[in-house]
Amino acid sequence: MTRRSWAEPWRIKMVEPLPITTREQREKAIVAAGYNTFLLQSDDVYIDLLTDSGTSAMSDHQWAGLMEGDEAYAGSRSFRHLCEAVADVYGYPETIPTHQGRGAEHILSQVLITPGDVIPGNMYFTTTRFHQEHAGGRFVDVIVDEAHDTEALHPFKGNVDLAKLQAVIDEVGAERIPYVSVETNVNMAGGQPMSLANLEATYDLCRRHGILVMLDATRALENAWFIKQREAGYEDWSVADLVRRICSFSDGATVSSKKDNLVNIGGFLAVRDPEIAREARSLLVAFEGLHTYGGMSGRDMEALARGIREMVDGDDHVRARVGQVEYLGDLIHKAGVPIIRPVGGHGVFIDAAKVLAHLPRDEFPAQALTAAVYVDSGVRGMERGIVSAGRDPVTGDHHRPRLELVRLAIPRRVYTQSHMDVVAESIGAVYETREQIRGLRFTYEPDHLRFFQARFEPIA
Ligand SMILES: *Cc1c(COP(=O)(O)O)cnc(C)c1O
Repeated sequence: MTRRSWAEPWRIKMVEPLPITTREQREKAIVAAGYNTFLLQSDDVYIDLLTDSGTSAMSDHQWAGLMEGDEAYAGSRSFRHLCEAVADVYGYPETIPTHQGRGAEHILSQVLITPGDVIPGNMYFTTTRFHQEHAGGRFVDVIVDEAHDTEALHPFKGNVDLAKLQAVIDEVGAERIPYVSVETNVNMAGGQPMSLANLEATYDLCRRHGILVMLDATRALENAWFIKQREAGYEDWSVADLVRRICSFSDGATVSSKKDNLVNIGGFLAVRDPEIAREARSLLVAFEGLHTYGGMSGRDMEALARGIREMVDGDDHVRARVGQVEYLGDLIHKAGVPIIRPVGGHGVFIDAAKVLAHLPRDEFPAQALTAAVYVDSGVRGMERGIVSAGRDPVTGDHHRPRLELVRLAIPRRVYTQSHMDVVAESIGAVYETREQIRGLRFTYEPDHLRFFQARFEPIA
């Protein structure tokens, strides 16, 4: 059979010109930014792969929704549309709107966690773990070991290790575990999915012990696509049915709508239990806003309601979304550059420890490689390694995560295939001259979440 190309199920109606800079300008810009891509001005960035959070392009139907949003303080029609979309697409009867994902994590953690509790989860996410600990809980990682191995070609590197979970339950007792925090398409593992079989088994194990399962369903759509591709028996399912099926093995979910849901801001907590919903709403009015808008304007809720339906309106959107990420990953892999494989749902993760094997970890290879890629082409990625991991508060030494990565996160419906070609060519060019890249040292190290604002200089 001859190969037939697929393409994006949309065309471009409005364009946003991109800044084109010279190498000389970029060399100045990276020095001014202290070799930290978070400190670059977006006007100095050509292709921005810093994050896929809040960077999606909305459809004409969503933009029209902005005009039609109902800004009533109480009882907004747009809130009703949001609740209906969440109930239809995710299957949860109770929706609590928040300003973004971490707002939902905050409310959920405050409602369910008592100081001293333990919350097992499949790898941590920064804000999720923060709110669990802020509520007095302790997070314990129960993801499968393959998640930490960049080369293990496991189809479901996001799976919960049931033996690890059982061991935590045996050790601390089910009554100390208010819920298990299960993330779909695990972000920090590189956008790696879990299987439905694993999620169902996790849910069954928790039910036997009277423990709730709360999803971080931020990336449930991308996970659904991987299940369709990789898990026997689901080839013919629609992603709409698979998202519903995923959520059926849970008691509720927090969602950052800045990802799958195709909006620039927003999020929600959704649950089945009306009593949990009642407690959440009473906290919501103190921390976010009235229960019929949480942290969002009416127009934001309208665009979100439409984005939720649009993401599962046929499989073509997610096929193109994940297809574009895989396209870029394949190009970079074929250029011989070591990346996390299989390629995940939202970005390509380059193994900087391998690329810059001549640099010790304390000279921040991923930070240095991210800066070098920017100087080469104006492509902005992000460090996910020793700088992001921060310091151990007790010993004062760096945390040393096993993974030392440059993340290239792809915004949804924003860039074209030619942009991906440019990115891959730049990565290839930097890889050819990798031995010239020097290590970095701090000139300024913030006390908290240091990766956002740290400054560096090259080591002579
Ligand atoms: C982005 C993200 C969050 C946090 O959501 P915000 O909207 O940034 O507050 C939580 N979990 C996952 C998996 C995410 O990707």
